Amino acid sequence: MRPRTLTKSRFQIACQCPTKLFYLDQPEYSNVRREDSFLEALAEGGYQVHELAKYYFPNGIEIDTLNTDQALLETKKRMENDAITLYESAFQYQSLFIRIDILVKNGAHLDLYEVKAKTYDSEGTNFVTKKGFPTATWKPYLYDVAFQKYVLQNAYPRCTISSHLVLVDKNAKCPTDGLNQKFTIKRDADGRKRVTAHNIQPGDLAPPLLNAINVDSICHHIYTSKCPVPNDFYASLSFAEKVQIFSEAYSSQTKIPPVPTKACGDCEFICPKSGVGSPDLRSGKEECWREITKDPSYNSSKKTIFSLWNYRHKERCIQQEKYYIQDLTKEDIQPKKDEKPGLSVSQRQWIQVHKEQENDSSVWIDRDNLLKEVQSWTYPLHLIDFETTMVALPFHKGRHPYEGIAFQFSHHTLQSDGTVSHAGEFINTEPGFFPNVEFVRQLKKQLETDDGTIFRYSSHENTFLTIIHSQLITDPNPVPDQKELCHFIQTITKSTSKPSEKWIGNRNMVDLCELVKRFFYDPRTEGSNSIKKVLPAILSRSQFVQKKYSKPIYGSKDGIYSHNFDNWVWCQYANNQWINPYDLLPDLFQDIPDDKPWLLSTDDRLQDGGAALTAYARLQFSEMTEYERKEIRKALLKYCELDTLAMVFILESWIQDYLFNCNKTTTEEVNIVQ
Ligand code: SF4
Repeated sequence: MRPRTLTKSRFQIACQCPTKLFYLDQPEYSNVRREDSFLEALAEGGYQVHELAKYYFPNGIEIDTLNTDQALLETKKRMENDAITLYESAFQYQSLFIRIDILVKNGAHLDLYEVKAKTYDSEGTNFVTKKGFPTATWKPYLYDVAFQKYVLQNAYPRCTISSHLVLVDKNAKCPTDGLNQKFTIKRDADGRKRVTAHNIQPGDLAPPLLNAINVDSICHHIYTSKCPVPNDFYASLSFAEKVQIFSEAYSSQTKIPPVPTKACGDCEFICPKSGVGSPDLRSGKEECWREITKDPSYNSSKKTIFSLWNYRHKERCIQQEKYYIQDLTKEDIQPKKDEKPGLSVSQRQWIQVHKEQENDSSVWIDRDNLLKEVQSWTYPLHLIDFETTMVALPFHKGRHPYEGIAFQFSHHTLQSDGTVSHAGEFINTEPGFFPNVEFVRQLKKQLETDDGTIFRYSSHENTFLTIIHSQLITDPNPVPDQKELCHFIQTITKSTSKPSEKWIGNRNMVDLCELVKRFFYDPRTEGSNSIKKVLPAILSRSQFVQKKYSKPIYGSKDGIYSHNFDNWVWCQYANNQWINPYDLLPDLFQDIPDDKPWLLSTDDRLQDGGAALTAYARLQFSEMTEYERKEIRKALLKYCELDTLAMVFILESWIQDYLFNCNKTTTEEVNIVQ
């Protein structure tokens, strides 16, 4: 067996929290951040960017093998050349091991290039603070390069080394049409991804979309200064000392004692939610927190400060050893009213704390203010949801990298007599087709038939429509209906801070998530306002929704019109609970192993649309059969339809359960104001 070596990714994980090194690669510990990040990299465009980067450093030799010893051997042999370019070259120094994306050797000088599928602003990004430390955003990337340079320098002490980050320039314009379709991805039978580049021409590469930024001076600063890290003990160590300690701990499988930080809230060493995954795996986080709290009975069902919504003072609480919501006082939250109706952020936090401490599972609702909102709406109500992504390499000449792509929407209506209908939808996942113009045309067609109030859930829809507005205006070949489309967007949105033109549309969309935050709190959401959490909470209590949707009326001939469901029953009861409607939908990714479904469901990013954007990337860039393509498309349509139906459920429950068929007329009492 090879000795356990510290790689750049392990070093990065140790920089977040050194204790994690102990749980890494131990099969008995659960780790919800999967090692094989194929789908994630696919969604972010990482593979295309890596492959494109090689064309800027042409004629290199790929060290193709995954076998560490073979890769080291082959690299060593190739490095005997006086001048050579290598892709994925392998180097080891003591217990440290790296593979370098691109290495250019010219005599005794080596240029190391780390490629990242991340945008930067060539006209304004600051990688370091005024004191010369890496900014929080760039720190992981810069430490990554610093680690590689450190290993390479020690492996080749007689060489001089220049280190570079290769990044996507957000100001660059794509030189040709169809560049993004020239890189397709396939996964081998052994699970390894393969990127194939087709017909790349010199014109595709100039002017470049990627830039190499020399980071030698930042690396020097990292090596020679005591860079602050969240953990005090390590702040006193130099870079080399940290590398030494991390590498020894990893090699010897020694656990570095846990030190609590706010990062514990996102720790990946948790057991997946009950009902999925292997129940036999151990939870590293629980083991840490038994040590931290000195409470042998600690388990993840105890609500900690990490589950308190939008709370900014976690570090302060940790310093005061206040780990549980039960430990918090009003002084810690300081609830204060703001100038708007309903709850301020601090008041909502205090309601969460209060209900947890009182073991009170009842709903809090501000009936008076919610009623005023409802009375201001115009029927029919329109509920819309978008699926969007950013594609690394542009579709067309003249467009920027990572431009917003809106490829799907769903649209429900709710009439004043309670009639619900899946009024419309749009999807375009055709490879190489830029869907935004057709997207907004269809949206306009569906929404301009009346002046009913339009709802979105969170700011996403507004942001994307303003992005499309700006794309339409800056298009060098404007579409014939450019003016009408831009006018339509302005009527239903509010301009975001950057555009020179300011507007608030006379039919500006209502943010349903904002209404939830200000007027409604259900402890079953555990402090989250994600629709994926609010929906099951609503459904578990709403007698109206349960009664209506326990019958196969959805998509039935005389029931509710649906584009994608037939005679569907949304409210199903099993094992003493209502099944989450999202769990009734087909899997988006059939190749996720059966025992790892949480890979696509515990991470909020994936839960809230990440799966859809990954599916889109797959439809664009992966080789697949027509059958697979159709199945993914069908699943996407169902998911998006449920997203807008979930908004209908929320409105129906509020109107029927809390506002008009209820004797109570005032806000339920919780002492929320100081
Ligand atoms: S729970 Fe906290 S201390 Fe333990 S491994 Fe996770 S982040 Fe580190």
